[in-house]
Amino acid sequence: MTFQSLGLADDLLKAIEQTGYTIPTAVQMQAIPAALAGSDLLVSSRTGSGKTAAFTLPSLHKLIDRRMAPGSGPRVLVLTPTRELAQQVEKAVQTYGKAVRGLNTACLVGGAPFFAQVKLLQRPVDVVVATPGRLLDHLNRRKIKLSDVEVLILDEADGMLDMGFAEDIDAIVAATPAKRLTLLFSATLDGVVGKLAERLTRSPVRIEVETAQEDRGQIEQRLMFADDLGHKNRLLEALLGHDGLQQAVVFTSTKRSADELSLSLQEKGFSAAALHGDMHQTQRNRTLDRLRQGRIGVLVATDVAARGIDVAGISHVINFDPPRQAEDYVHRIGRTGRAGREGIAITFSGPRETGLIRAIERFTGDRLEVHTIAGMEPSPRKPSSPRPASAPRRFGNGGGGNSGYGRPAGDRSAGGYNRDGHPAGRGDRAHGDRRDRGTR
Ligand code: AMP
Repeated sequence: MTFQSLGLADDLLKAIEQTGYTIPTAVQMQAIPAALAGSDLLVSSRTGSGKTAAFTLPSLHKLIDRRMAPGSGPRVLVLTPTRELAQQVEKAVQTYGKAVRGLNTACLVGGAPFFAQVKLLQRPVDVVVATPGRLLDHLNRRKIKLSDVEVLILDEADGMLDMGFAEDIDAIVAATPAKRLTLLFSATLDGVVGKLAERLTRSPVRIEVETAQEDRGQIEQRLMFADDLGHKNRLLEALLGHDGLQQAVVFTSTKRSADELSLSLQEKGFSAAALHGDMHQTQRNRTLDRLRQGRIGVLVATDVAARGIDVAGISHVINFDPPRQAEDYVHRIGRTGRAGREGIAITFSGPRETGLIRAIERFTGDRLEVHTIAGMEPSPRKPSSPRPASAPRRFGNGGGGNSGYGRPAGDRSAGGYNRDGHPAGRGDRAHGDRRDRGTR
């Protein structure tokens, strides 16, 4: 299937051609014609699947050829869970909308000056991309009206609900016309997301394109056991010093440890920087720009700040702390292997973190392959903890042609390693501060 056969306007096809895409992704093939036909959509698709174009292109198609009346509000509204994702989506709208004459966009996110956004809203704006909290502030202060919205898009709806935006979303949706097109994208469509979808959509077409596993096909997932924090630091340094690595995102579970780790990497000579929700938005933007320009080699980030990062040079994702929630794992590793490239995701597991690893494996259905670095193997496990029958494959030498830092993970029968038997009580550092969840 080609983009030409999807029914999109010529101007959009031109813009797509300029991006260099030749074939629509699976989600685009299904979502674009259905949205153009006027159906509400419930789409389960993950980051990296091409979902942004899947909702942006049909929305822009609707905008073409119809000028807005003076004083109108936005005709397309996109809600995203995080500031970075909102900015990323606005950029995509501008890229695909290059050929749409006089297209105006506004990105309304927390952390950015409120009155600069009010000024933006004083001219006609076709597309607004926003995080729910800030948009609601504008709505409550009557700085924006949503009565002209024709297309409402919820991007990463599961993320928005996770972050407690359900009520804000309901208030925002209540201000949009009932007669609108609603496109809801989410990693999962079950549970609370399903309930939200019932409230917001009318006879939606349900699209479940790729299974999680296919989506992650280009990402090699590895597991490394660490005895303690010092061991994690040594492993990290060894991985970052490896020549196969272009750029890396290292995830920590707290803002404080992101700052500390980034500082300690800088002291060791790495071009590292932190990214988390306590940083001012201009600082976050500057850091992301430097990452895109390749001036930052290692970004140390928390979950929320990293959603939406789309930088081609990210060859590795390293989970210094495994995520507390298994869904976050999928978002984290999706920072590498973008747009069909290959990527490597390495998750460290401290002595008390094996339960989190099991939760990730249950959630994804993938087994993480155990790797070690020569000379930095973890201590032997306690013999009392048997390994599950379906033990992960062990293999040598880093995989993917990356020689140097991989070698066969030890065979347990030869006194090596058992993933479930970490001796208790040898503490990884407790990360006390709260998780980074704030985005408003
Ligand atoms: P997304 O899932 O929207 O975050 O998109 C992931 C990446 O895929 C982005 O870097 C897009 O620029 C890229 N992309 C989107 N559609 C296509 C396509 N049809 N062909 C190749 N790359 C694409």
